[in-house]
Amino acid sequence: MSLIVQKFGGTLVADIGKIKNVAQKVIYERKRGNTVVVILSAMAGETDRLIALANSAAEVPEAREYDSLISTGEQVTVSLLAIVLNQLGYPAKSFLGFQIPLKTDNAHKKARIEHIDTQKIRKELKKGVIVVVAGFQGVDTDNNITTLGRGGSDTSAVALAAALRAKQCDIYSDVDGVYTTDPNICNKAKRLDKISYDEMLEMAITGAKVLQPRSVEMAKKFDVRVYVKSTFSNQGGTLVTKEDKDMEKEVVSGITYDRDQAKITVVHVPDKPGIAAALFSPLSGNNINVDMIIQNASLEGHTDLTFTVSKKDLMEAKKIVDATAKKIGAKNIEVDDQVAKISIIGVGMASHSGVAAKMFTSLANEGVNIMMISTSEIKISCVIQRKYTELAVSVLHDAFGLEKKK
Ligand code: ADP
Ligand code: ASP
Ligand code: MG
Repeated sequence: MSLIVQKFGGTLVADIGKIKNVAQKVIYERKRGNTVVVILSAMAGETDRLIALANSAAEVPEAREYDSLISTGEQVTVSLLAIVLNQLGYPAKSFLGFQIPLKTDNAHKKARIEHIDTQKIRKELKKGVIVVVAGFQGVDTDNNITTLGRGGSDTSAVALAAALRAKQCDIYSDVDGVYTTDPNICNKAKRLDKISYDEMLEMAITGAKVLQPRSVEMAKKFDVRVYVKSTFSNQGGTLVTKEDKDMEKEVVSGITYDRDQAKITVVHVPDKPGIAAALFSPLSGNNINVDMIIQNASLEGHTDLTFTVSKKDLMEAKKIVDATAKKIGAKNIEVDDQVAKISIIGVGMASHSGVAAKMFTSLANEGVNIMMISTSEIKISCVIQRKYTELAVSVLHDAFGLEKKK
């Protein structure tokens, strides 16, 4: 008898009929003799709806109340699933974050899990009860409800799997695995049988929504076997696991895109010590993450500085940078909110030459202009015009032969 954690995403619990299907998937594991802990998301679209409600109530909703509100979607689905399971004769009990408790820090909207008390869960499991836990939420030391960032139920699931030392963590979504690229924008995308933690982490960070980046970080740290699966078949799926010899041979394993990007250029900045610090410190002080940064070569003591932020932070970032630009004597600032980031990812990249050149040539052949470039050992990212996103993904998918991957 093994302990298995199953997580079901929003599309799979979107209505009562779908919740009944999820119940069957849980019962299937139970009948195979496994102990099951289930993590659920809110019904598809519900978290968006709650966020819109909060934003219609105030320009800047208070963070504590915001988290309290947007965490309610999960309360609905976990209690519904527990009701359905009980009705079918399988004892089940739902838990919210604070009832466990699943302790986090106090960074509302993007709280980090610090500790999970597994006592209550273990007690129920011992009695044969199916435990259903609300994803995406926790509680801080002052008993305030916190949320873990969009897509955070993945992290709840992996964290619980780690805390309970589960045999595996199955992530059920509207896709039956991790693909070479988003199958919803590229019909040549191929499902991967397995992917390394490091590649999956880069894919998640650079835009593949299928797993929240923190869930992958946690899986790697605690060595959790994560399967991304489909509820429609018991076959297939992708195992996220440690790197092995086969993976090292692959130069590029996946392509990602992120349309949630905006670019800011500070024009004609005096080129002297302290300028970058003056520009970026107030941004980080306001919790705005800066992604790529490039600084042009200096000409007669002046330079241009370009960087990207998330689209949702653009207005606030612009206000802050405008004020700093005046202080440091820059000419003006320019904003472009029509950009996207395209990335290629692969652990084998580090030991192969010519990968970047191939990426740039393939984009150039299609007339796609590259505005910014950044690289790491296992990733190359380019900022391009957003309207070319799908074209770029498909061109790179062809160029690196990913449709032949298995
Ligand atoms: P859930 O609600 O189940 O958590 P998400 O919407 O968060 O589901 O994540 C699943 C989505 O991730 C898919 O619908 C797909 O469009 C997107 N996606 C992006 N890149 C990939 C990829 N490489 N492989 C699989 N899915 C991907
Ligand atoms: N319901 C939350 C969201 O939409 C958490 C999740 O689905 O993982 O972001
Ligand atoms: Mg998700």
